[in-house]
Amino acid sequence: MDLGIKNEIYLVTGGAKGIGEGIVRALAEEGAIPVIIGRSPEVGKVLLGELEEKGLSGYLIHKELGTPESCKEVVDEVVSEYDKIHGLVNNAGVNDGVGLERGTPETFLESLHKNLYHYYYLAHFCLPHLKKTKGSILNISSKTAVTGQGNTSGYAASKGAQMALTREWAVELLQYGIRVNSIIPAEVMTPLYENWLQKFENPEEKLKDITRNIPLGERMTTKEEIASMAVYLLSKQASHITGQHLYVDGGYVHLDRALAGTDLV
Ligand code: NAP
Repeated sequence: MDLGIKNEIYLVTGGAKGIGEGIVRALAEEGAIPVIIGRSPEVGKVLLGELEEKGLSGYLIHKELGTPESCKEVVDEVVSEYDKIHGLVNNAGVNDGVGLERGTPETFLESLHKNLYHYYYLAHFCLPHLKKTKGSILNISSKTAVTGQGNTSGYAASKGAQMALTREWAVELLQYGIRVNSIIPAEVMTPLYENWLQKFENPEEKLKDITRNIPLGERMTTKEEIASMAVYLLSKQASHITGQHLYVDGGYVHLDRALAGTDLV
């Protein structure tokens, strides 16, 4: 299947690591030009170098996405470099453990800054450019929005808001032919996930407990599996899909977990 995204420009926040890195690689493999946006310049440079060695393209912007100004600067730089934007992947985030009991009003607000506000800022500043290309937006949310996790109010609230905004923006942008979708991962081994696991007394046992409950294959989802869905949703091959929440999670959220570990799965 030709996805038809050759030479198209896609912004990927948090594109140097984890799920974002997977999406950047998949976009580049399809001939698109991913813009890696993140605050780990060294990791981003290594990734860009690897793409270039394979004859693929990419562009790196080193930025902390905490403010509207920094998000506007990102969009301005992309437009001055390439003149066009075909898609935005809002992906950067951190599960920062700001709970109801352990958090404070201040840390809750900070968590929204880290996880939610830049999704809106970037979509807002990209919009005039997406209108010209009839581009698309993809929001990476999390299963915590629908299952909860405990002790992570800021993150869970942000992830829920991203799902709501996916539908809200899909409606508002129908008139421009801009599609908006979200992917809801559950358990994907990435640097973020690895850091979270290390907080447990026995990370290996914890990981076994988790994978035991993932119905399809009792294993983690790979970042490549998230990326395949991401690139498809961004492309014109998904031209009649908008406002959707796609769960790429081996059935974790919706299938009967009581079956996990039995002969039926
Ligand atoms: P990751 O391994 O930590 O990678 C995220 C990248 O985003 C990192 O490079 C990080 O930079 C960057 N980043 C985070 N906040 C940023 C900011 N404000 N400005 C600039 N860069 C920023 O995370 P991941 O596991 O791939 O997660 C990516 C997305 O998937 C997140 O939205 C997360 O909620 C979602 N998700 C992940 C899982 C999972 O199992 N991994 C499950 C559900 C949802 P630093 O390295 O400098 O922090």
